[in-house]
Formats: sequence, structure tokens, C-alpha cells
Amino acid sequence: MKQILFILSFLIVSYGCNKSPENVSEEKKEDLKVNEFAIIIHGGAGTILKKNMSDEKEAAYKAKLEEAIKVGHTILKNGGTSQEAVMKTIQVMEESPLFNAGKGAVFTNAGTNELDASFMDGKTLNAGAVAGVKDVKSPIELAIKVMTDSEHVMLSGEGASTFAKEKGLEIVDPSYFFTESRFNSLQRIKEKEKTELDHDAKAAFYDADIKDSKFGTVGCVALDKNGNIAAGTSTGGMTNKRWGRIGDAPIIGSGTYANNVTCGVSSTGWGEYFIRSQVAYDISAQMEYQQKTLKEATKDVIQNKLTKLGGTGGVVALDKNGNMSFEFNTEGMYRASMDDKGELIIKIYKE
Ligand code: ASP
Repeated sequence: MKQILFILSFLIVSYGCNKSPENVSEEKKEDLKVNEFAIIIHGGAGTILKKNMSDEKEAAYKAKLEEAIKVGHTILKNGGTSQEAVMKTIQVMEESPLFNAGKGAVFTNAGTNELDASFMDGKTLNAGAVAGVKDVKSPIELAIKVMTDSEHVMLSGEGASTFAKEKGLEIVDPSYFFTESRFNSLQRIKEKEKTELDHDAKAAFYDADIKDSKFGTVGCVALDKNGNIAAGTSTGGMTNKRWGRIGDAPIIGSGTYANNVTCGVSSTGWGEYFIRSQVAYDISAQMEYQQKTLKEATKDVIQNKLTKLGGTGGVVALDKNGNMSFEFNTEGMYRASMDDKGELIIKIYKE
């Protein structure tokens, strides 16, 4: 009897100890609210190496990432919604020629810019997306409009533009999206393409070219003071795309996902693999059904599942408690995060 009492009291005491915050393991800490609000962004992943980057270029990227994230952070700090924070943050990057979204989008094989974007609201699981849009200044704003002002989730091409006009969104001449560096990238790829002869060599060339590219898509995930998570992604897709190719960025569950119960995710990388892996939803599903932490889920999906399939890229993600995660299997990813204390992290390369 004495022995049983001893074991019982030991169990009670050790349970009590485990409950005190200093004894909570790293993983369990993810169960606690670490940030009342938070924001995380990316400006694309890829072969981004320090040796290929000038100091000026690096400074320009960092400055733009800082400018963008601070716009969203201020909105959240003042009690604004995660939806507004995500939209306004992404718009700063869409308007910058540095990123492959909005102005600065990559060129299609036909020499046009075709833009994709998506948005998801973690509270209602409502979502909106657009694909192949050629004349709408802010594709992320249009994606949100599709969510709020139509009964659909995804619109494409001309129809999406007509909807944008009807809703009074800013329409621009397609030349607005032109940047010389992106145009030159297309010419380089086309030149190389001509020199490849057989089908296998061509396939190898495409693989190498894609693996080598800097994807440059932009994305943002935010948690607001009301506990609502929102996620958005905007891109020009991949250089030299043709036949109306659509990547993962406008696909809910691949490029973007948000659920207040789990997390929000925005992806960047080789879109075909992100679609096949359902990257963004898989991260949320692992948290929901396997009780994984955000870090565990993002790591498994990117470093294990996506990598095994041959996909390259990464995600930014944030959970309901304000934990944040950058995860990528490329050389670098333009990325930044900011928590409720105002701590700002901006990084480009692998550590
Ligand atoms: N994921 C995008 C796409 O495949 C590209 C990128 O992330 O830059 O269209």
C-alpha cells in the first residue's frame, strides 16, 4: 500500500513539474501562445548565392522586404485584419520590379506576362484565386475580390479581367509589367533552347534551367489580434511558360492555405511539384491529423516529401499561436518575419 501511495505521489509531482513553463519541451512550447499577432513573408526561393549577389542588390532586396513586412506589421499592431495585412504587404512586392509578381513578372514563351495569385481566409476557409491575368495591376487584390464579391473560388484570363473591371480594380497596359532583366532572361532561355537537338537533351536543359532559376514569387501569412490567419501568394509563374501553363501559386492547398485551427502557408518553387504534393494543405493536415508542430510539418513536407519527389522551393508558414517557420530546400529564399514585439528577421541565404 505504502508503495502504491509513493508511486501515486511521484506521478502527481512529476505531472505538476511538467506543467511549469520552464519544463515545457521545445515542441510543447508550440502549444502556447507565443505571439498575439505575427507576420511572415517570402520573395521567392531558388539558386540564390552570396557569390552571385552584389552588395547593392542584396541591400535592395532586404530594404524592400523590410518595407513590405512593416506595412503589414503596422496594420496588425493597430488591430487591423490579417486579410488587409496580407494584401497590403504583397502589394508592396507586386509593385517592386525585384520580384516575380506584378511589375517584374517573368515572361511567357509568347513574350507576355501572365499573372497568378491566391488568397485564403483561415477563419471561414473562404478563398479566391486568379490565373493567367494580363492587365490587372494587383493580382492579389483581384484574388481577394473573387473571394469576397463572387460565388467562385478561381477565375482565369479574360474573364478574370472583365470581373476586375466590373469591380473597379486598377487596370494597366500590359507594358506596365515589363522589366528588361526578365525580358533578357526569356531571350537567354530561347537562345539555349534553339541549340538543344534531341528530346532528352531538351528535357535535361529544362530541368537544369528550372533548378537553376530564382523563382521570385511573393507570399505572406499573417495572424491578427483576433486570432485570424490569412495567407496569400502572387506570381508571374515560370519564365518561358506556354500553353496557358498555371503553377501552384493560384491553387488553394498547393500555393496557399490558411486554417485558424492549424496554420497558414504560402509556397514558392517549382509549381508542378507543389501541385502534386499539395504542399500547403499537407502541412495543415499533418498538424490537424498527426498533431505535428508547425516546424515538424513544414520540415517533413519540404525536406522529406517534396525533396524525394524532385521538387525544389520552400514555404513560409505561421500557426495559430504565432509560431513561424521558414523551410526550403534551395540555396536561398528571400524571407522576413516580424513578431508582436517588433522583432524583425530578414534573410536571403541558407544559414
Ligand atoms: N511557384 C511558382 C510557379 O510555379 C513559381 C515561383 O515560386 O516563383 O508558378
